[in-house]
Amino acid sequence: MRDNFLPFSLPLIGNEEIEAVVEALRSGWLTSGPRMKQFETEFCQAVHAPSALALNSCTAGLHLALKVLNIGPGDEVITTPMTFAASVNVIEHTGATPVLVDVEPDTLNLQPDAVEQAITPQTRAIIAVHYAGHPAELIALRAIAEQYNLHLIEDAAHAIGAAFDGQPIGSGENLTAFSFYATKNLTTGEGGMLTGSSELLDRARVLGLHGMNREAWSRYAAGGKWAYDIVEPGFKYNMTDVQAAIGLAQLNRFDRMQARRHEIVQAYNKAFGSHSTFLIPTTRAHVTHAWHLYVLRLRPAELSINRNQFIDEMTARRIGTSVHFIPIHMHSYYRDKYNFHPDDFPVAHTAFQNMLSLPLSPSMSDQDVADVIDAVLDIRQKFARRRIAA
Ligand SMILES: *Cc1c(COP(=O)(O)O)cnc(C)c1O
Repeated sequence: MRDNFLPFSLPLIGNEEIEAVVEALRSGWLTSGPRMKQFETEFCQAVHAPSALALNSCTAGLHLALKVLNIGPGDEVITTPMTFAASVNVIEHTGATPVLVDVEPDTLNLQPDAVEQAITPQTRAIIAVHYAGHPAELIALRAIAEQYNLHLIEDAAHAIGAAFDGQPIGSGENLTAFSFYATKNLTTGEGGMLTGSSELLDRARVLGLHGMNREAWSRYAAGGKWAYDIVEPGFKYNMTDVQAAIGLAQLNRFDRMQARRHEIVQAYNKAFGSHSTFLIPTTRAHVTHAWHLYVLRLRPAELSINRNQFIDEMTARRIGTSVHFIPIHMHSYYRDKYNFHPDDFPVAHTAFQNMLSLPLSPSMSDQDVADVIDAVLDIRQKFARRRIAA
């Protein structure tokens, strides 16, 4: 057994990031400035986005997306229960009503037919989450959005580096929010990026910085003017240059980090794919998976222990794991406000009961990967339900 604990997710931070931060600090420009602008430009190029706006979180990006589209009280927004609370909290913040629909059994992404069935005259938008880094069915969702005159917003917190039909996630004209939270595939500690048409992002840029009619940071540059106007009560959602410095260094090594994630996934799939105890993640033929998460699902009939006990066994073997996600409808706020029952979304609920996320990070060594595999297979061996021969 390992003698130290393997954390579920460790960011890969090296000298490049450290030096970039020191340089940013020495430059005297701490808040949004030239590094933030450069990060926007390079991120745009990386995901082929029409335009990009650097922010302090993905949550900020999702909130701004809804505000820019004038979504508010009386409106309904359709989304998935299989996501982090932020995707749905932002709908509540606008005063609109989140409408949850169940997910597809393999990818755990929004089920397009269920989305269509949930549409009412109040529906204004769909928030599609690219769960674990596997893109949602964008062609079908775009067709529904077009037919019913709805906005499609993408929560791409997991999907930096993902593509659908060869098109990078973030390359569309619609608003798409990325996360650079500490555990995400590319991190700035905290941070986010909103991509989409420059028309939509121009308003988001104003709304994301107090509602000022011109970018505050340029006021302090050489020749900057003191005057500004508040055109609406905005938010404080800007990214700092210190964060952007980390982001630029991470972007430089992003392809290598993704390649390492793919290697680890290959090793896991090879180790677990042949055992009927496990359901390994699927990748549909027309997508590039970003592999933010490796979600292993247990087949309860094959084991004498449940998921929670499986996680305890992993912890006892000094391997960190997590669960993505406790479905939205099971959190007390949503359960009580909308009177949800656990089996209202049976696919999401069943998946939740049997899932655990294994460590997946480019910072992992081959030994770390082997330790995770050994732990999983050892638990399987020990707790396999014995079959009685017929
Ligand atoms: C991490 C995450 C978010 C929030 O990202 P922040 O940058 O922390 O605001 C939103 N949606 C999903 C699906 C996430 O996993």
